[in-house]
Amino acid sequence: MMHTEKRPEYLEKLHTILHEFNITSEQEWVAVVLFVRNMVRDLSIFSDELKGKLQRDVFEVLGSKDLSRPQYERVVDMIEVFVMHNTATLELETALAEEKRSANALLGEMNTLINMIRGTQEKQQTSLSKFEDRTVGVIREAEDRSVILSRVRQMFKELVAEFQEETREWESLATELQRTATFDPLLTELYNRRAFDAALIKTVRNGRNQTPPPTLMMIDVDKFKRVNDEWGHQSGDDVLKALARIVNSQSIQYNGFAARYGGEELVVLVKGMDQATACLKAEAIRVDVERHPVPVRRDTDGPRTPLSFTVSIGVAQLKPDWGPGDLLRASDKALYRAKAAGRNKVVAHWE
Ligand code: GH3
Ligand code: MG
Ligand code: MG
Repeated sequence: MMHTEKRPEYLEKLHTILHEFNITSEQEWVAVVLFVRNMVRDLSIFSDELKGKLQRDVFEVLGSKDLSRPQYERVVDMIEVFVMHNTATLELETALAEEKRSANALLGEMNTLINMIRGTQEKQQTSLSKFEDRTVGVIREAEDRSVILSRVRQMFKELVAEFQEETREWESLATELQRTATFDPLLTELYNRRAFDAALIKTVRNGRNQTPPPTLMMIDVDKFKRVNDEWGHQSGDDVLKALARIVNSQSIQYNGFAARYGGEELVVLVKGMDQATACLKAEAIRVDVERHPVPVRRDTDGPRTPLSFTVSIGVAQLKPDWGPGDLLRASDKALYRAKAAGRNKVVAHWE
């Protein structure tokens, strides 16, 4: 075991997060796998070489198919060593916590389904335990979430065919599972990060030859911490919901893919529009937000007060030699400039 004498605070936190996962060992592993996979894609602050090495090391352990406690500790240590050579800890913690939440939600729903099917018919026990084993196997072995999801859905289909009578009920649960896996739990009209990642990769892959190429808007609430601090977390959530409604209702008009990128950051992926037009669409969102204060209250039974808020938006258009990460970085840079220029602004990457 690799433990330094005095671990920095962020490593303690990382450890706490990882050890918090002991609801079941499956969930620990799913979270670690998803985390390591996604970190490679999303966390641009680490060098590709480092990320590749960590990924290889972790997947070597996973390849041994030994998901015991000591093995788990080994993987945690690997991640820890990785973090010790890097400083971007906040992003890391957030990413890991998010994976934990989404892995838990997925597994929770699978368990519900499995339990429900169990309750219905004793005699079909064999195919059920087969299904359960296969589900867990898929989660262990699958390479990424889209693979997990498509395999699990395939298994649902096979199982549903076997159990003619309860088909309808199960399908609605499978649909629910699909929803959980696709949409944000709080901002329900927006796609979640998982769906966005998949859409971004696909859009970038197909978009290189398109004229005009796809564009990404990155939207961030201005001084949102203040809303939480002054009005409470519930009011903060209400503000986010109001923003989600505006972003969704605007972006569906031009077939934009609107998602929650994380926390108070939203993204809209837009196709078939030059950057100047995309900026006008972003500007329309900015103005809509500015003009629509959200009724919030400090206490559950207190009076509602209209609260104005604003957003900053960074816009970037795909360049021929860019990957998904480059497009994200470019829109993030533009967003940063919008913040630096005083907030409540739309800034395009070329400016
Ligand atoms: P800036 O204008 O620079 O973006 O300032 P900011 O305060 O918006 O930025 P900062 O990143 O410091 O704070 C973001 C805050 O958003 C911190 C976090 O607590 C809050 N937040 C993230 N997700 C949620 C959520 O789902 N609900 C609520 N209520 N708050 C959230
Ligand atoms: Mg932010
Ligand atoms: Mg903010």
